[in-house]
Parts: sequence; C-alpha cells; structure tokens
Amino acid sequence: SRPAAGEPAADNSDFKGVWVYIEQFQGKARNVGHELLGEGRKLADAMGEELAAVVIGAGVEPLLQELFASGADKVYLLEGSEYRHYSTDAYTIALTDLINVYKPSVILIGATNDGRDLGPRVACRVGTGLTADCTNLGIDEESGLVAWTRPAFGGNIMATILCPNHRPQMGTVRPNVFKRPEPNTTRSGEVIRVASKVKAEDIRTRLIELLTIGETAACNLDEAQFIVAGGRGMGKPENFALIEELANVLGGAVGASRAAVDAGWKPAIHQVGQTGKTVAPKVYIACGISGAIQHLAGMSTSDIIIAINKDADAPIFKFADFGIVGDVLEILPVLIEEFKKL
Ligand code: FAD
Repeated sequence: SRPAAGEPAADNSDFKGVWVYIEQFQGKARNVGHELLGEGRKLADAMGEELAAVVIGAGVEPLLQELFASGADKVYLLEGSEYRHYSTDAYTIALTDLINVYKPSVILIGATNDGRDLGPRVACRVGTGLTADCTNLGIDEESGLVAWTRPAFGGNIMATILCPNHRPQMGTVRPNVFKRPEPNTTRSGEVIRVASKVKAEDIRTRLIELLTIGETAACNLDEAQFIVAGGRGMGKPENFALIEELANVLGGAVGASRAAVDAGWKPAIHQVGQTGKTVAPKVYIACGISGAIQHLAGMSTSDIIIAINKDADAPIFKFADFGIVGDVLEILPVLIEEFKKL
C-alpha cells in the first residue's frame, strides 16, 4: 500500500526511469509528445536514468523511429484494435497496468484534452499525485525530485510542486512550452511490446462516429502553424468574423486575448496567454491586442509575430517582427483579399 499525503517517505527505490506518454491521433504522434521527449531527456540525464516513450494505439508501429530520434531509449508499445481511438477506459487500464508492472519514477503527459482526461485517472489508480498544466520542469537541487511549475490562483503566482512520498511523480505539461528537439536519426533503442489486458466489458463508452465540425480547425491552437488572434481592439463580437476569415484563408486557428474572452466575444478555448493556451506557430497575427505581459507569456515564442494596432506606442510592437499601425477593421479586409490571391 502507498503512504497517504503527509506520511513519511516510502522506499521508492524500485521506481526507475522517466516516461513520456505519446498521444497519437490516427497513427500520427502529437507534437507535444516530442516536446516532452526533449525535456524528458534532460530529466533522465540529470537523474542518471533511462527515457522511455509509451505509445498506445492501432497501427502505431511506424512511430518508433521518430520517437528514438527525439531521444527515447525505449518504447513501450501497446498495439490493438481496442486502442484505435482514444478511450478513457481502455487507455486508463493500459497505462495503469504498465506502471504497476514496470514502475517508472516520472511520467510526463501532454496537457491536451485527452491527456487531461487520462493523467488524473491513472494517477488516482496507482495512488500518486499529479501536477496539472505545468509550464516548466526542472530538478529540485536539494531532494533530486522533479520540480513541476504551474500557474496557480488564476495565474497570479507560479507554484513549484514536488512529489516527495509517492511514485511515479506525474504531471501534465502544456503543449508548446518546450521546443521539439531536432531529430537524431542515428539513434535507435529497445521496443517492448506489451500484450493488452483490456477486456471488451471494461470499455463502457464507444466511439460511433468521428465528426469534423466547422470550428475544429479554428480551435486547434496547439498545432496550428498560423494563428490570427483578436483583442479588445476588435470592438465588438461581430468583427471577429474578419479574424475567422483570415484564419480560414491561411488554414490557421483563431486566438483571442483575455479581454476578448472576458467580454464574451470568443469562448475561453481560444484564449492565448498565461491563463489560456501557450502557442508557438510559425506566424502569429495579433489584431487589436495591446501586448500585456500575460498575453505575451502565451505567444512570444512564435517564429514570426505580426501586430496590427492603431496605437503606434502599443507594447506589442516591441515584440513584433512586423507591425502595421492602423485600424484593424480597415487592414484585415485588405489582408484577406491579398492572401486569397496567393
Ligand atoms: P487592451 O489591453 O484593451 O488592448 C486593446 C488594444 O487594441 C489597444 O492596444 C488599442 O490601441 C488597440 N485598438 C483599439 N481599437 C483598435 C482598432 N480599431 N484597430 C487597431 N487597434 C485597435 N490576457 C491575455 O490575453 N491572456 C491571458 O492568459 C491573461 N491572463 C491574465 C492573468 C492574470 C493573473 C492577469 C492579472 C491578467 C491576465 N490577462 C491575460 C489580461 C492582460 O493583463 C490584459 O488585460 C489583456 O491581455 C488585454 O487584452 P487586449 O490586448 O485585447 O486589450
């Protein structure tokens, strides 16, 4: 049995290794898995332990090489038709069993919709804690434990959390806070194929049909290469149609500042910033956004930042690679027409 919170430290010496859960969709690994392999590599090296990737799915064998190239020493592969689509029951059972058998010391999971569903369930079943939605990771010098950092109290403080008594040390980490490592295609490693213990009666929900609704692409801020974001300077919710149109022409996603979200102009799922999403697209177009520090915290690692603002002294221009001083309502229609021609 595991000690309850506050009990003296248990002997955790049989827990070894850093694991990264690789989320995949239709056989393609989400970027966040690679980002966490890069960060997991640093933790594993500092701890003198191995780095393993865990892949659950159907037809995911082709992922092996890219996971080694991103830094994994080992891959635990759980293949089966019951894993074709993400299922809370099947994936929770699979990951819980794997932890109970192989006893990793640390597990990193992307703070995506699926990761946020899976992580806490697994943590509860194996009797450990979980630090959710981390924005930084490190090693606590004194204890050698993983130091998980996350915004707390509405983003007003950054809390660093340790997990002294229980194993594994688990956390979900926001996509895009770490860079995907450069692939090293000369690397290879060990593959451990794990037989499924999931029984049909364990799965209480089934995916009947996968529908792609209009908003989906526009909401996918995590993986978008182009993001067009609007702020209070858009004036009213109807004007967000211009943001949506430009995002659509560029094949990108729609972002929003907290001011726009708080005003009810866009749902919170679009919010970029300290208390919203962290994004790192190739191009981020900020429209009528002043550039408050809390907004910058979520988008400043974008490759190219373009700002449109009618105030030439707006702070966003200090961080933008390209700036357009003018009224968004006049400039956006021109940009939409020009990009349509490309
Ligand atoms: P404003 O600051 O009001 O800026 C509007 C801009 O639009 C101005 O620069 C103005 O010149 C320009 N403008 C106006 N009309 C036009 C026009 N017609 N054409 C062109 N430009 C125009 N904010 C976030 O975004 N994300 C977060 O996650 C977040 N987390 C926070 C957490 C905490 C704890 C706190 C205290 C704050 C947080 N904020 C966050 C809020 C943040 O401090 C700012 O208040 C917010 O980002 C401002 O949004 P904005 O830039 O849209 O609005």
